[in-house]
Parts: sequence; structure tokens; C-alpha cells
Amino acid sequence: MKSYRKELWFNTPHRRDYINITPQVEECVRESGIKEGLCLVNAMHITASVYINDDEPGLLQDYDDWLEGLAPHEPISHYRHNRTGEDNGDAHLKRQIMGREVVVAVTDGRLDFGPWEQIFYGEFDGRRRKRVLVKIIGE
Ligand code: ZN
Repeated sequence: MKSYRKELWFNTPHRRDYINITPQVEECVRESGIKEGLCLVNAMHITASVYINDDEPGLLQDYDDWLEGLAPHEPISHYRHNRTGEDNGDAHLKRQIMGREVVVAVTDGRLDFGPWEQIFYGEFDGRRRKRVLVKIIGE
């Protein structure tokens, strides 16, 4: 069995961003040389997510509005977590609901997606360097 590991780094310009990372993950699959296997992609931080959905600008805005409705960033004092001196209580909750990781089948050397599926990095406490792990196993 072959195994491949790579970290993708991000430093988003805004507190919250939604980035289609499918091209980077496809590049990882090519680099790995693995034809049949599984590809895990996970956020390495507890205030960011990796998820799969449609790359449609209206939907990305809908996600952001929905998450801000559930866990608004402000008022900062609303979150007990922020008593630590942090201001990212909302980002932890947003990460929880959007998920930590995705697993995609690799078939014939390609990510085996359903219709319109794309892999996204969801950032909820950005403007600093953060990582995503890509791990691919197979043959
Ligand atoms: Zn925190």
C-alpha cells in the first residue's frame, strides 16, 4: 500500500472565507501516484472546516448568512469562550457544524465525486496562517 501526506497552507484575507481547494487536492492525487484508494482532507485547526458542496456564489453567501445567524461573531461578550481573551467563540461553533474533514474515494487516479461536488476550506477565524492535511492511501 502506498501512502501520501501533504499540508496545504492558507492565510485568508477575511475573518471568514470559503475556498474551493479541489484543484490543490487533485494535484495531491496526481503527485501521490495512487490509482485506487481513499483521500482524507481535514482542517488542522479547530476554527476552520473542510466540507463538500456546490461551488455556487449564492450558496456560499447563504452559508455565511446561515452561520452568522446561528453563531454571530458579535457581540464578542456573548461567548463564554471569549473570557479566555480570545474573540473566536463563534468560529469554534461554526467549525463544529460545518465539519472537520471529508473522505473522497480515489478511482482510476481521480477523485470520485458525485454531481457538482467540490471540496471547500471554510475559514471562520482567518487572517493568519492555517493548515489543511491531505492524506491519501491506496495503490
Ligand atoms: Zn478559541
